[in-house]
Amino acid sequence: MKIVIDDVGKTFTNTKKEVTTALENINFTIHEKEFVVLVGPSGCGKSTLLNIVGGLLSPTTGSVYFEGIDKDPNLAIVFQEIALFPWRTVYQNVIYGLEERKVSKQEIKEKADYYIDMVGLTDFKDAYPKQLSGGMKQRVGIGRALAVEPDLLLMDEPFSALDAQTRTLMQEELLTIWNRTQLSTLYVTHNIQEAVYLADRVIVLSRHPGRIKSIIPIDMPKMGRGEEQHREQFERYAEEIWQMIRHDAVEALKE
Ligand code: ADP
Repeated sequence: MKIVIDDVGKTFTNTKKEVTTALENINFTIHEKEFVVLVGPSGCGKSTLLNIVGGLLSPTTGSVYFEGIDKDPNLAIVFQEIALFPWRTVYQNVIYGLEERKVSKQEIKEKADYYIDMVGLTDFKDAYPKQLSGGMKQRVGIGRALAVEPDLLLMDEPFSALDAQTRTLMQEELLTIWNRTQLSTLYVTHNIQEAVYLADRVIVLSRHPGRIKSIIPIDMPKMGRGEEQHREQFERYAEEIWQMIRHDAVEALKE
């Protein structure tokens, strides 16, 4: 199975008939079990591209398709601001996507318990969102996405509203979870360190129009990239990416 992003372009036209080219000539493939990170400064089209791959927006040109799969692909998206149902418990929020599908009650319970445990919320499964911290809410969102066992997991800046420490812990936890689930993932961030920490490949986008500037395979073991022995290599990747987006990042600040 793989997901092909084939020459995707997207333009937006405002009420004054002014056209913004958000994306142009986007070509890449997400392979099975691959973790691909889109990185670039604000306004380079990361969210637009994620929404197109997730089927929430249609491309103006080109297409996105799944290869090697004989059913409708199953997708799950985790957003920065997780929209949990405040009147549902953690458990009820996690099973939301499963209820939509024809899954037996027994199977729903087994899957929910399994994924609630995976995101470390077993002791909180009867709690309501208002009783949870920001990091815990994000875990619920991740649990809900995992529970549908998607063919592709999409994540749009999932940790950027969290404080720095929680964010670091969540990144570590996401890697542990990914190691268990091995889901094909498309992850959006403007944070270069996060991209190098998580990715099998980093796709660097440029702005106006959003194009692929470079695709960088991160040739480091997936786990333990934060450890001392990898520091030099880690910093080299981060620096390489920063040099690519530096100019665009400065321009983005002026807008
Ligand atoms: P990023 O996620 O990298 O910050 P976006 O995908 O949000 O970038 O936006 C890319 C470009 O497309 C920006 O110039 C933005 O203003 C424009 N854009 C995004 N969504 C819309 C929309 N619905 N209507 C008009 N322009 C949009």
